[in-house]
Amino acid sequence: MNDRFRRELQVIEEQGLTRKLRLFSTGNESEVVMNGKKFLLFSSNNYLGLATDSRLKKKATEGISKYGTGAGGSRLTTGNFDIHEQLESEIADFKKTEAAIVFSSGYLANVGVISSVMKAGDTIFSDAWNHASIIDGCRLSKAKTIVYEHADMVDLERKLRQSHGDGMKLIVTDGVFSMDGDIAPLPKIVELAKEYKAYIMIDDAHATGVLGNDGRGTADYFGLKEEIDFTVGTLSKAIGAEGGFVSTSSIAKNYLLNNARSFIFQTALSPSAIEAAREGISIIQNEPERRKQLLKNAQYLRLKLEESGFVIKEGETPIISLIIGGSHEAMQFSAKLMDEGVFIPAIRPPTVPKGSSRLRITVMATHTIEQLDMVISKIKKIGKEMGIV
Ligand code: PMP
Repeated sequence: MNDRFRRELQVIEEQGLTRKLRLFSTGNESEVVMNGKKFLLFSSNNYLGLATDSRLKKKATEGISKYGTGAGGSRLTTGNFDIHEQLESEIADFKKTEAAIVFSSGYLANVGVISSVMKAGDTIFSDAWNHASIIDGCRLSKAKTIVYEHADMVDLERKLRQSHGDGMKLIVTDGVFSMDGDIAPLPKIVELAKEYKAYIMIDDAHATGVLGNDGRGTADYFGLKEEIDFTVGTLSKAIGAEGGFVSTSSIAKNYLLNNARSFIFQTALSPSAIEAAREGISIIQNEPERRKQLLKNAQYLRLKLEESGFVIKEGETPIISLIIGGSHEAMQFSAKLMDEGVFIPAIRPPTVPKGSSRLRITVMATHTIEQLDMVISKIKKIGKEMGIV
């Protein structure tokens, strides 16, 4: 067996696609210690700085003091605490939906909804760039999955038109795509869903706390909250904790509670994660200036990099994609940045299409203008050295 692993790892290595763990000895602040060295961090999902906020830490500690470090059972056995239900009702209030149901991660929420809602005879229409957890949900479901070209509404319409049968149809899309930071063309998706009698599910992992009024997400950003059947989110990015959720109708919540295997067979979310998440959601709504600062920082970085001649995907979210091309070049750029004390990972196939390896920069509300200017000057310097600009 080990020989086989060795051979396969060798192939990955030759393609420049080996994945390695990095060791952090501090939390995701804008400056971190990684592998024993200080770095400016431009790759965290701690968008609003809440994962390291003292108020969330305090609430998490209080949760542990009262309930312990683990829930001790699944929600349907012995792990359903009052704070789980409070969190769900606070998420529903925040997202302005009838109900919400919490999972142990966003990954499990996507897998749970798709695999339980979509059955044999049904059809899922999934954007080509959807997150791996959506893809895995589709694989687990007995429904047929039809992948449409990324954000291509002509292709989606063609595929909806060509799909016959009485089964249920579900269009699934990331709200904000995790690699390029672009926003799904939701108004057109809603129009097509109405025309072809399809339901809509959005994965708002990167939009929750970032887009829309009070950070309510992609549907709110477009004024289309009422049109979405399932919104999946994570508690682990802007909210600063851990866990996932689905905001939906009360009846759909009850259906998921009875059918989603990744809900039924998993130990309930730990008290510390729940209490941190509740505080995060409250801060997001009470301190809109954090979100404004985040979007301002993203806009500044995008503009400055564009002015310097880099190819930056257009957008307004905190995920900024700087396209390099080859895997080896992207890795080299990232390594040179590390030598300069800046951590920005290179993203390579199979995560992104071949030939579009990139630096995936993420901005935080807590980055200072000095830190932003510092990273811009380092990227410019290396870009010139490598003949990219
Ligand atoms: N969806 C998207 C778009 C994501 O980026 C992620 C996290 N990388 C997830 C879902 C999964 O969320 P979680 O980390 O809470 O499992």
